[in-house]
This record gives sequence, C-alpha cells and structure tokens, in this order.
Amino acid sequence: MDAKRQVHKDQRSANVAVRVVRPVRTADTSAQRHSPHVRRSRGRGAANRDLRLDDLRAKALAGERLTIADGELLYHTPDLWGVLEVADAVRRKLHPDVAYYNINRHMNYSNVCALSCTFCEFYRKDGQAGAYTRDLDYVREETRRAVEAGATEMHVVGGLHPYLPWSYYPDLVRTMRDEAARLGSDLHIKAFTAVEIVHLAKIAKQFKASDRTAGIRWVLEQLKDAGLGSLPGGGAEVFDDRVHDEAFKGKIRSDVWLDVHRVAHELGLNTNATILYGHIEDRRERLVHMDMLRTAQDDALARLGHARDAAGAVTLTRPGADLPTPSMSARGGYFQTITPLPFVPDGSALERLPGPSGIENLRTLAIARLMLDNFPHVKAFWIMQTLKAAQLMLQCGADDLDGTVVWYDITKVEGSGTHQEVTARDLQRAIREAGFTPVERDTLYRPVTRDGTAWSVGV
Ligand code: SF4
Repeated sequence: MDAKRQVHKDQRSANVAVRVVRPVRTADTSAQRHSPHVRRSRGRGAANRDLRLDDLRAKALAGERLTIADGELLYHTPDLWGVLEVADAVRRKLHPDVAYYNINRHMNYSNVCALSCTFCEFYRKDGQAGAYTRDLDYVREETRRAVEAGATEMHVVGGLHPYLPWSYYPDLVRTMRDEAARLGSDLHIKAFTAVEIVHLAKIAKQFKASDRTAGIRWVLEQLKDAGLGSLPGGGAEVFDDRVHDEAFKGKIRSDVWLDVHRVAHELGLNTNATILYGHIEDRRERLVHMDMLRTAQDDALARLGHARDAAGAVTLTRPGADLPTPSMSARGGYFQTITPLPFVPDGSALERLPGPSGIENLRTLAIARLMLDNFPHVKAFWIMQTLKAAQLMLQCGADDLDGTVVWYDITKVEGSGTHQEVTARDLQRAIREAGFTPVERDTLYRPVTRDGTAWSVGV
C-alpha cells in the first residue's frame, strides 16, 4: 500500500470515529465553524471531513454529471484532501494502473504577435529586441533533431504574426512532414491553436463573419493535406466575456474557439483543451469554462456513436462506458486531454498578481478531472506545474505528464530559460514513484513500442 492510500485508510478510520462521537472542539476557521457538513478530527492525518463529498464521489463514479453548484462545493470545501481523493478515484477508474508520457519537441516558429494579451510574456512586436521568426531551414533542422532524439511528436505554436503570408504555414507543416519522412519517421505534427487557425483564415482571406466555419474548414483542410495531425489546446484561456475583454481583448471569443475545434473534429482531427487560470477570473468562471468544454465534447463523442444520457450528456465514468478509440477516426475527432495551466505572472503585464498557489493548482486539477467527465485524459503539464508538483498530481486526477519538451519559450517558471528538458527516464521515474506504470504514448495516446530512437505504435 502506498503512503497516500495508507493515509486515506487512516483518515477513513478517524472519520468513522467522528461520526459516532461528538466532534472535538478545536480552533476551527470561520468557514469550518459555520458549515454543518464539516467534522474536524485530530489524530493521524488530521482532516476536515466534508460529508457532502461522499455524495459527489458516488455521483461521479456512477457517471452522473456534476453540476456547477457541485463544482463550487469542490472549490469551497475546506476538505481539500477529500476533493483530491474523489478525483483520484475517478482517475483510477478511467486509468487504473498507468500514467502517460511522450517523447516530443516543442517549436515556436515566431514570437511576433499582433496582440498584447496581458497574461502573456511570450510575445514581441515586429522589430523589437528578442523578436524572432524561423525560416524553413530552421524548421527542417529542428525536425531532424526531433527525429534523431526519437521524438514521436512536434508541438508547434506561435504568435499571430501580422506580416507572414498564408503560404508560410502549410509550407511549415509540409517541411516537417517531408523531413521526418526522409529520415524514416512518422513524426506527428500537433500545431496551431484555435486562435492561430482563425488568424490564418483571415490572412488567407477565407474568413467571413457571415460563415466563419467555412474559412476555418478551408484552413484546416489545407493544413491537414500538408501533414497536420492534431491541434493543441491553447488559446482557450477562460471562456468568459468579462475576462476576455479585460485580459485578452482582440483574441477570439469562446464561440469561435469552440467552432475551430468542432470543425477539426468533423475533419477527423483530435484536439486538446486548456484552461489558463489564476489571473483575473473567479472560480465560478472556471467552472463555466469546464461546462462549455464538456458540452462540446458531448457533441464530439455523440458523433462517434457514444450514447447520450437523458440530459444529453456523454460521460466516460458511467458503468460500461468505453474511452474513445485513441486513433484518427474517419467518423470524427474528439477532445483528448484537458490541461489546466496555472497563470505565471513573471514578465507579463499582470506581474502584480500573485498567481495561483500550489494548493489552488492541486484543487483546480482535481476539479477539472471531476467536472470534465467526458475527457479521457487530464494532463499535469510539468513545465507549468514543475515536475515535482506534476508527480503529486498523478494521485489527484492527472494521468499524463506530457513529454520531454526540450525547448519552451511560452512560459518560464521560477526563472527557467527556453531550454526546458527532462529525459524519458526522469518522466518514467516520476510516474513509478507516484505508484503507476509508465506508458509511453504517441500524440493520439496509442502505446509506443521503442527500440532506442526507433519506434512504432500499436492500435
Ligand atoms: S497569448 Fe498568444 S495571442 Fe496573446 S499576445 Fe501571447 S502570443 Fe499573442
């Protein structure tokens, strides 16, 4: 029995006692004193047991969708340990023994951006010190490095460059695909957030306000033909107009972000989603964001033939539900992963804000696991969470750590530079120590069989 399970067992023992004897009077916080649902116990693993979480646990494990009010309870209860334990139970139901990682390489083709989102430390204006735009020779060289390191994935995003022509983008994808093929690799290209896709539709003069999905579809079809394999989940931030207008005005709103992912799914491309939290949004706004994502995933999974319940939901936690098949499907794609991204203030226009605490990060990741009942995977992205915290998150709802990364320019946590790399062995060790079997996956969560830098995927 691992340490955490032992503590849970001890907690349960303590809590049984609390239910039959009068609770011990302690110096409780105000919130705890005024809650009739909280029992405070002392002893090994002293805990603030919130009995309401028992009901939420039963609901979640039965595949019943949690409401926004349930999510608010999860955010406000002082029984943090209870919240993490419920998320862990759901995570183990979906992925009993394993946790995933991949061998990948990130590449940013340009940090020049027409926008100036207040939380962003990545962008530069054209001509500003530190601004860069990569040519295709650079792209070819990065691809070669990725292949020679045995990577299965290139993760590619950039700013909204005001001057690059449309032709640059399919050329970028084609260059990666052709160079990888020349070197004998089936490297997967995961590229361009929904925000970038809409920008490309505009510079290609395909975007019409009267029928915006037509331009989005045109761009995705062209990029798919060039070798695009899936979309990352960035650019979602928090789906709320107030937050949008205050923190990232000029970016697409939630309806357009969701349009891009829906069209990608219709074209058979799998995609991912994120939530960037801990800046100017409140917790309820995060929950609404999660609710909007899971509604979009209901539609994607229904398109694949998953049955809806009476309320129209498709939950993966109900008895007998199967995870969607982890492969490109002619019938359509779906959201694979939710990645909660804690806001990192350093270097951004919101530097005055503290950013979320470690406790808030744990709680938000656990709540994402519980609210997004139809997302197969929850990623603890080690770059943003740190590997040590991400390892702990494997026991609080996460089943994926992401990959070796190598080069990351979007965010620098705790003063880190652009070279941010861990080895596959580091990731395997982190997973084993957390009590799971490490499984190397490709971008579509197919298990990878590896012999050095040569690899293949199962189906
Ligand atoms: S978050 Fe994206 S769109 Fe906003 S400024 Fe940064 S690079 Fe540009």
